[in-house]
Amino acid sequence: MVVETIADMKRLRLKLTEPVGFVPTMGYLHEGHLALVRQARAENPSVVVSIFVNPTQFGQEEDFTKYPRDPQRDLALLQKERVDIVFMPSVDKMYPPKFKNWVEVGKVAERLEGASRPGHFRGVATVVARLFDIIQPDRAYFGQKDAQQLLVIKKMVVDLNLSVEIVAVPTVREPDGLAMSSRNTYLNPEERKAALVLYQALSLAQKLWSQGEKDAERLRQEMTDLIQKQPLAEIDYISIADAETLDELDTVRPPALVSLAVKIGKTRLIDNVVVG
Ligand code: AMP
Repeated sequence: MVVETIADMKRLRLKLTEPVGFVPTMGYLHEGHLALVRQARAENPSVVVSIFVNPTQFGQEEDFTKYPRDPQRDLALLQKERVDIVFMPSVDKMYPPKFKNWVEVGKVAERLEGASRPGHFRGVATVVARLFDIIQPDRAYFGQKDAQQLLVIKKMVVDLNLSVEIVAVPTVREPDGLAMSSRNTYLNPEERKAALVLYQALSLAQKLWSQGEKDAERLRQEMTDLIQKQPLAEIDYISIADAETLDELDTVRPPALVSLAVKIGKTRLIDNVVVG
């Protein structure tokens, strides 16, 4: 069932059998999103999925207006997964003209993606807080693909004392290793091949670490060298950080989050692995 207003969503929520599993998305669904939906389906008698391209998490120069959208296809996929409710609010329902309150999560939101995309996590945390309030989920499912987003949401839940369990779902990849992303659709065939360099760099770091390399700067350098050999790739950041605080490491102590953002042509892609 598709629901477009907050009032209808709140009313129908009361009729759902608990626990309720919730999967927030921006739509243009792929197997990564569906892995979250399937896990929610397996663990809860009721499942709500939201599709909302959230304008406040996009920067001025970013791709909000051209972000890919295909609601009909998304709805058909979600119907196959037996989702109970698909919540698709409009922007003016989520952000009425006098909307003034924002959720700011602090340090964990300020580095990496937060540093490259100022205001991004403020937008993410605010919309997820709004969605949690409307949907009142018992469990909410997020992809490890967006590792920092997961940390931001977990921190918000602790600090605001929200009664929702955050469940992390492993990254789903294409057969060659590229992490699935709605933004992969921007890549032309040549860029699609070049985009594999993200996964290759992460795999290299993992391999060197498992062979005994613990010097984080050496690992960053090896990753940088590999990516710089790919002419279509431009590095935004390469990070080896504590997986909980996101403090950059000198010596790799597990669990460490190895993450990177790389532009392939005009398309900015992110990916990560956890070592240890
Ligand atoms: P998005 O629609 O990009 O906002 O993503 C919605 C949710 O799906 C987020 O929790 C993402 O982390 C998750 N997600 C996106 N891509 C993947 C992937 N390849 N594997 C697992 N989860 C993913």
